[in-house]
Amino acid sequence: MEIDPISSTQMGTPARQKDAKALQFIEEMTRNADSVQQNVLAQILTRNAETEYLKGFSLDGATDRETFKSKVPIVTYEDLQPLIQRIANGDRSPILSSHPISEFLTSSGTSAGERKLMPTIKEELDRRQLLYSLLMPVMNLYVKGLDKGKALYFLFIKSETRTPGGLVARPVLTSYYKSDHFKTRPYDPYNVYTSPNEAILCPDSFQSMYAQMLCGLYEREQVLRVGAVFASGLLRAIRFLQLNWQQLTHDIRTGSLNPKVTDISLRECMTRVLRPDPDLADFIARECEKDNWERIITRIWPNTKYLEVIVTGAMAQYIPTLDYYSGGLPKACTMYASSECYFGLNLNPMCSPSEVSYTIMPNMAYFEFLPHEPNSPGLGLPVQPVDLANVEIGKEYELVITTYAGLYRYRVGDILRVTRFHNSAPQFQFVRRKNVLLSIDSDKTDEAELQAAIENASQLLQKFNTSVVEYTSYADTKTIPGHYVIYWELLAKDSETSASDEVLDQCCLAMEESLNSVYRQCRVSDNSIGPLEIRVVKNGTFEELMDYAISRGASINQYKVPRCVNFTPIMELLDSRVVSTHFSPLLPHWIPER
Ligand code: AMP
Repeated sequence: MEIDPISSTQMGTPARQKDAKALQFIEEMTRNADSVQQNVLAQILTRNAETEYLKGFSLDGATDRETFKSKVPIVTYEDLQPLIQRIANGDRSPILSSHPISEFLTSSGTSAGERKLMPTIKEELDRRQLLYSLLMPVMNLYVKGLDKGKALYFLFIKSETRTPGGLVARPVLTSYYKSDHFKTRPYDPYNVYTSPNEAILCPDSFQSMYAQMLCGLYEREQVLRVGAVFASGLLRAIRFLQLNWQQLTHDIRTGSLNPKVTDISLRECMTRVLRPDPDLADFIARECEKDNWERIITRIWPNTKYLEVIVTGAMAQYIPTLDYYSGGLPKACTMYASSECYFGLNLNPMCSPSEVSYTIMPNMAYFEFLPHEPNSPGLGLPVQPVDLANVEIGKEYELVITTYAGLYRYRVGDILRVTRFHNSAPQFQFVRRKNVLLSIDSDKTDEAELQAAIENASQLLQKFNTSVVEYTSYADTKTIPGHYVIYWELLAKDSETSASDEVLDQCCLAMEESLNSVYRQCRVSDNSIGPLEIRVVKNGTFEELMDYAISRGASINQYKVPRCVNFTPIMELLDSRVVSTHFSPLLPHWIPER
């Protein structure tokens, strides 16, 4: 077993007593991963023995893993949907959980075009809080002096809806930020935000962002870390600064507040922040009016030690843009979580994004791992899930969870690869979310393959100082044969040397070359897929796409650019912003299998 270097000694030197306790807790949990898991399952099954769901499987009081696994099936959201719908409609009987369902958490995952509704119970907030409380003690091992300044984190809430039965439905982070756990958190010198609660809790995303940016600008010297939940959120904040710096510097110069900020409690709270500071306004205006925004983060916030954003999984494509704006600051991916359950944390948060491994905390839920062998011939044998402590290094698994809130053997849909162990707890690289993005014929292209193809093609743009800042795709089956359409938003760092049409045609081919062999076979041999098309869209198009998604109910915190689109209004929006189209000029290589 490979041992994480920090586990062989104790986990470094804690910054303070509180940290020592948290680190000790991580050590205990990870040393006893298997027995903690056994206890978690027993607790969940004992307390929920009388639920309609579990009674249906005649566990007869058994709480051991073997009985549980032999009697309770592995399920997907779609299997539970009728039960979830009953809860949403107002049935308060113990259907999934013996504890009352306190609210629904709306996942960014969808089922039949609708957001998934995850039932949760009150005490889950404590569990989430517990995971949050471990993040700073770990970070303090790697970055010193975080108590000497503040964090500029762009955090947002989203408006809530109610189910027909009256339960609140909202994103998990909205639920957390609105909870007392967050609102009345005790002062912690290592975790001071520049954003006041009133700004984070303002439901209007413009006003919230405006106030958070203004506070961050006023405190530019104190800011030691800059972040958002996902990388896309931080880039949205940079874009916001690009669009609004004139008004922001006006406010700083005069000590007044943009009249577009109308929220009363936010206005009142901002009076405590605002003061006329012409020197600061001049400085920010000088930096923002330059055409070149390279290293803008460190120019404006010169003491930033790292960015805190998730750049694993689908967010990996933002790394070059973040590096551009931050001059390559470290990017800390601190945790791995979902609406269903918070899973774990990164015990080495300053590592490079490609090295990130998350340690699943065995106390959060009961975890199982379905072996996932994408290239196996498929012998038709049902694969058996393995327990947390029994996964093998190098192998990929699909995560299956049993939660305190009443999900039993639920497939999350994430594929994880085991990289090493910390004590007896495995650490996982997030590989991708299991799904097929594009398919025209028998080909199936998933998110990771598409991402790799984009990366391959975008190498051709490097010498033109151009990068792909956003992309999405579409399986265009209106043409015969159908073909892949890839929408690209490009960032040309200097306009003199932008990529020619010919180069962009070659990018189409480079993408095809790196797609899987089934795709290339369809292209070359079956002629069932036409040449891949790249449509370059105007700058700002993907921001409009996000605005559109938000206007339709998506949450800023959770928003991820869809890597495949097929919804007509979105396609129309994209197509109306196209500035040039390019097709693959040649067939990709393909060698018949023998
Ligand atoms: P949601 O339910 O909308 O909160 O989305 C949860 C999903 O986001 C997870 O199941 C993952 O697919 C993805 N996700 C969450 N945290 C990470 C992370 N640290 N790295 C990569 N993907 C993540």
